[in-house]
Amino acid sequence: MKKLVLIIFVLIGVSACKVNPFTGQKTLNFYPNSQVFPSAFAQYDQFLTENKVVTGTADAQMITRVGQRISSAAERWLTANGHPGYLKDYAWEYNLVNDETVNAWCMPGGKIVFYTGILPITQTETGVAVVMGHEVAHALADHGAQRMSAGTLQQLGAVAGNVAIKNQQTLGIFNQAYGVGTQYLGMLPFSRSHETEADRIGLQIMAIAGYDPYEAAELWKRMKANSGGEAPPEFMSTHPSNDTRINNLTAWAPDAAAEAAKFGVTNFK
Ligand SMILES: [Zn+2]
Repeated sequence: MKKLVLIIFVLIGVSACKVNPFTGQKTLNFYPNSQVFPSAFAQYDQFLTENKVVTGTADAQMITRVGQRISSAAERWLTANGHPGYLKDYAWEYNLVNDETVNAWCMPGGKIVFYTGILPITQTETGVAVVMGHEVAHALADHGAQRMSAGTLQQLGAVAGNVAIKNQQTLGIFNQAYGVGTQYLGMLPFSRSHETEADRIGLQIMAIAGYDPYEAAELWKRMKANSGGEAPPEFMSTHPSNDTRINNLTAWAPDAAAEAAKFGVTNFK
């Protein structure tokens, strides 16, 4: 038991070193990128080989273009706010997959998938940017690694004292957090706080990328109308509710526009 307590203290001590640059808050995350990203990249590649990736179409090009604009906006924001090099381990990739599911997701390290099923709801490039900003934000804020960390603490609690954190175990925890091999790959619900955080960060970086932040609430209104009360899988958790989300995004839009102005962006598309 003493050993377990020691391990947990060490983990929390290490985790205290990791600060989310977007919120300035310490996060429970004791998985470095070097441990999480290789698993994510391998799973992403496997997913692509097992699904129908759309290439060469106007839609596929749009997904890539929006993704590049948003991740480059994130890089500008991080550099301007004293975090140059924060994204050095990231390997951004944006793929459109032919699947009627209304969904999009992002794995750690910037591996993003949009399903064609979400395009009738995003409707425009700006609508895609709303979803892209949200997904990129999950990756920037290490939400995947935080979920893994929480899962590890649970496991530690479950098998008192017998657990050492090793690479092999990291893979197991990763698989658990991401439901690898199931249709829910990369789509287990994030917590309410992670969703809200991704909405807020996503809104800022879409604005810095030149996309109208006032369109974010409009996208979620369409999502709500489409879902008939049910949110799509990535947004599977019932919280925040669509209404909370729409209210938040409406309230935050002026801040996002002001943030974009700091980067010389005052015209939105
Ligand atoms: Zn999300």
